[in-house]
Formats: sequence, C-alpha cells, structure tokens
Amino acid sequence: MHLVLLGPPGAGKGTQAKRLAEKLSLPHISTGDILRQNVKTGSVLGSQAKGIMDKGLLVSDDLVAAMLDERFNNPDIKKGFILDGYPRTLSQAETLDEILSRKGLAVDLVVYLNTSDEVIIKRLTGRLVCSKCGANFHALNMPPKVIGLCDNCQSVLYQRTDDNEITVRKRLEVYKNEVASLIKYYNQQRKLHSLNADLDALEVLEQITLLCAKV
Ligand code: AMP
Repeated sequence: MHLVLLGPPGAGKGTQAKRLAEKLSLPHISTGDILRQNVKTGSVLGSQAKGIMDKGLLVSDDLVAAMLDERFNNPDIKKGFILDGYPRTLSQAETLDEILSRKGLAVDLVVYLNTSDEVIIKRLTGRLVCSKCGANFHALNMPPKVIGLCDNCQSVLYQRTDDNEITVRKRLEVYKNEVASLIKYYNQQRKLHSLNADLDALEVLEQITLLCAKV
C-alpha cells in the first residue's frame, strides 16, 4: 500500500498516519517531521528550513525532494508507506511519481481529508506534541492526563513554533493556493478519495482503513 494523505494543516494527517502505520505495519513518512528533526539536530538542511517553516511557507522543492529520495532508500518502504505532508504542489506530485517509478513503485491511493477553517484553527492553536514519540494532544479537547507530559511515554509536550494563529492562517493560504491542482492531478489518475475530516478521528480512521482494504 502506497498511500498519500492530503489535506490542510490540522486536518489530522499526522494523527491518522500514525494510527494507520501501526494498524497496517507500514512506515509513516512525514516531510514535516523529517524537517523538524533536521532543525532539532541543527543540520545544514535544518538551518536552511527553519526560518521558512516558522513563516508558514514552503521549503524549496529541491531540498524536500532530495530529503524524500533519501528516505525512500530505506528498505522499509518495500512493505509500502503512508506519506503525510508530501506532495504539497503539483510539481511535488510529479516529482513523487518520478522518484517512485525509478524504484518500480507508484502511488496506490490518495485520501483527501477535507476540513473547515474554524476546526483547523482550533485544533492547531491548542495542539501539543510529544517531544519523544510525536503523539498529539490538545490543550482543551484531548488534554494529557498529567499537564505537560505525554500519556504514552511521559516525555515533555511542546507547542510547535508554527502552531500560532498568524502562521496557521499563512499555512492555510499557502495550502489553498496549491491544493486545487493536486486534486485535479489525482482525480485524473482516479486515485483520489475525499473524506470529511471534521468528524471524530476514530471514524475517519475507520473510513480510511476501508478505502485501503479496497485497493
Ligand atoms: P507539516 O508538519 O506537514 O505541517 O509541515 C510543517 C512545515 O514544514 C510546513 O509549513 C513547511 O514549511 C514545511 N514542509 C513540510 N512538508 C513540506 C513539503 N512537502 N514541501 C515544502 N515544505 C514542507
């Protein structure tokens, strides 16, 4: 299963990808997570990307494509993968097809998580992320059992620097400028399925699982 999750920031791509990855025993590949890891370790890539990410803009296609290409060299993708945060532009979708076809692979299914702006702003400005396992919580809707600590591994929770309202609105604007061409691209390939991601996360997971079973 080579699955792409599409949708605005805050649609729940990361949450769904993590749960699906466990359920289907597939690697979860998030370009945002790989970039944040690079920022954390202070790599050259991370220092180039940090300012752009904090403004809610897109890191250059070349940088992200090189990073993804390298990730796809990991043999774990032979089982398949769940891709979250890539592609974000038509050009990235074409690059993805090129990278995969060089490996004799192709995208099987694209699930579009459709979400309203108000839900996104509420979700993201309250989001808390575990610094170790990446689990997500919400300050109001899904608070951790102990304030500031992850329920799963007890590590410290943090708020992403780009999860403030101004940057979230910018990320949404960037997303909206690009998404129509992606939807068209995957519709033409008959790979796109749209879901209402304002619904409860478990219900959305169930629906994605059903779509995967049909592939
Ligand atoms: P995410 O974790 O997917 O919300 O991504 C966080 C930030 O990382 C985005 O706002 C971008 O600055 C950067 N980023 C992640 N994926 C990509 C991508 N495919 N292309 C360009 N920038 C990206």
